Formats: sequence, structure tokens, C-alpha cells
Amino acid sequence: MPHAIPTTCVTTWQEALIQAVRDPRELLELLELPLELLPQAEAASQLFELKVPRPFIERMAKGDLNDPLLRQVLPLGEERTLTPGFTHDPLEEAQSNALKGLVHKYQGRVLLVVAPNCAVNCRYCFRRHFPYQDNNPSRQQWLKVFEQIAEDSTIHEVIFSGGDPLASPDRQLQWMVDQLEQIPHLKRLRIHTRLPVVIPQRVTDDMIAWLTGSRLKPVVVIHANHAKELDNHVADALSRLHKQGVILLNQAVLLKGVNDQLNDLVDLSERLFELDVLPYYLHLLDKVQGTAHFDLADHEALSVHRQLQGVLPGFLVPKLVREEAGKNQKTLII
Ligand SMILES: *Cc1c(COP(=O)(O)O)cnc(C)c1O
Ligand code: SF4
Repeated sequence: MPHAIPTTCVTTWQEALIQAVRDPRELLELLELPLELLPQAEAASQLFELKVPRPFIERMAKGDLNDPLLRQVLPLGEERTLTPGFTHDPLEEAQSNALKGLVHKYQGRVLLVVAPNCAVNCRYCFRRHFPYQDNNPSRQQWLKVFEQIAEDSTIHEVIFSGGDPLASPDRQLQWMVDQLEQIPHLKRLRIHTRLPVVIPQRVTDDMIAWLTGSRLKPVVVIHANHAKELDNHVADALSRLHKQGVILLNQAVLLKGVNDQLNDLVDLSERLFELDVLPYYLHLLDKVQGTAHFDLADHEALSVHRQLQGVLPGFLVPKLVREEAGKNQKTLII
């Protein structure tokens, strides 16, 4: 008798991260999409690697090239179009990146580039050209960063950013929090991450332990652009965070063909609130080379945002913002 085939197959988040689809052909085949798309997908993935975790792919509709989740991750020929006004580092972040791992461009808060990569490569990303390889500090270098934070009592908040900070092991993150909570002027620990959305298994007991076990008040800013991203697995993961007192916020990017219709934005806010997440920011696209096909004109963005204000309570309307180089805060679009 042949031995039994296991009926359940539990994947850890680390496995899900490694097993992300990186081959454009595999993505097209999984979604039953025409292979005519392959040459352009391969060409565009030369510029910025394709990377999509399987739990995220499972939420996409088969055979639908316009699926709002697919559009965020599928490399297209349009990415190779050079568009005037779209640059490689529109935010000029390279300039505020003085000490390895540390970005200090916002008043009162600092951004730590905790992990050099992301779980998913979003085609519209403003960091698609970011020099992450130069930004992978050792523990010794982190101690220098913490020293610098300790010397500046105007800093009240540390933001774990990336890449995706939750791509780092919990052991490392626990170590960082242990060091940071000793700095008396720090009050808050904020995590900017897309991992609980794309791989909800990432919300482990160990993660909750370092996130909620220090005196720093925890805030997690997730990144979902469309209600379809927020399935029941994501709901469970977020509910565990919420029950532990973590403040949950969402930032989205306004993207043509993904979430630029009023009903997309209404559904997103409604679904977020169901999951105890408040909509925080709706970003206009950063003008990064290779992303112009996602761009909306300012007046179109404003128009859909006004309509949103007309149909939702104020606390479910995200702030419409843009990042501008050299500014130490976001610019509110009104
Ligand atoms: C805007 C922004 C911040 C700072 O956010 P505030 O909520 O305005 O303090 C941090 N990290 C990233 C990636 C941002 O875009
Ligand atoms: S998860 Fe965020 S930083 Fe990473 S590729 Fe997507 S948008 Fe960019």
C-alpha cells in the first residue's frame, strides 16, 4: 500500500517568501493568460525582477488581464517607455541617506531601512531603482544608527521601513526593539509593511512579541490598494494584531487601471474598516521611470477623491498626498 499523502501542507512565511513566483512564464500559466504576453513580460522583468508570493496570486481571477492584483505585479512592455518628467530617484532619497540604514528626512521621526528587499515587487514602486545593496547594515552599523538617534532628543518615533522590514527575521527585529526602547525620547514604533497583506502567515507569535512587548506604542501601516487583496487570511492576521492593541493604518497608491474608480476606493475603505484598519494615505504616483502607465492627472485624482468625500464618513477618506523631493513632509492635495 502506498504511504499516505499529507492532506494539509502548512507553509511557513519564510517558505512562502522563497517560493514566490519569479518566472513570468509561470505567472502567466498559473493565471491561464496568453503566452503572447511573455516576451514583453520577460523584457520588463529585466529592469525590475518579477516577484509575487503565491498567497497573493491565489486571490487573482484566472484569465483576467485586468485583475487589479495582477496589474500591480505583472511586468508590461510599457515599463520600457521613457517618459519625460519621470526619473530614477524622484524623491532624491539618496541625499537624506547619510548613515547606512538611516533616512532622516521627516521632523521628529526617522526611517530605518531594516530589510533590503520586499516580499513582492510592485511595478509602480518608487523604490524600484533604490540602491538597497548599499543599505544592508551589520549589527555594528545599527549600533551607530541607534547612537545617532539617542543623541537627538527631537526624535520620538522610529519607522521600520525597507524594502519590507518584516522580511527580516523576528530575532533581528526583537534585537533592534530591545536596543531602541532604551532610548528615553522614543515613544512610538511604526512598521511600514506589505507582508501581512501578501503573506499573512508573517504575523507570527514571535512578531507580536517584539511588536507589543516593549514600552513603545506600536503602529502598523499596511499597504493594500484594492479590497480584493484583503481576503479572510489577511483578516485573521490583522485581527490578531488589533486584539493586541496595535494601531492599524493603510496606505495605498492611486493607480490607473487598479483602483482609480470611485467604487474601488469605497470598497477598499469599507473593507479596511471591517478589518479594524483606518485608511491613512492615498498617494499620488511618484514619477519614477517605467511607471507612467499607472499615472493619473492631478485633476482626475482630485475628482475621484472629492467623490469619495461625498459618499464616505471623513474617517474613511484617506488623505490624498504626494511626496516631493526636498520636502520634509508630504504635500496634501486639495
Ligand atoms: C510618508 C512616509 C513616511 C512618513 O510618514 P508620516 O505618516 O507622514 O509621518 C514614512 N515612510 C514612508 C515610506 C513614507 O512614504
Ligand atoms: S512592497 Fe512597497 S517598497 Fe516593496 S515593492 Fe511594493 S510598493 Fe515598493
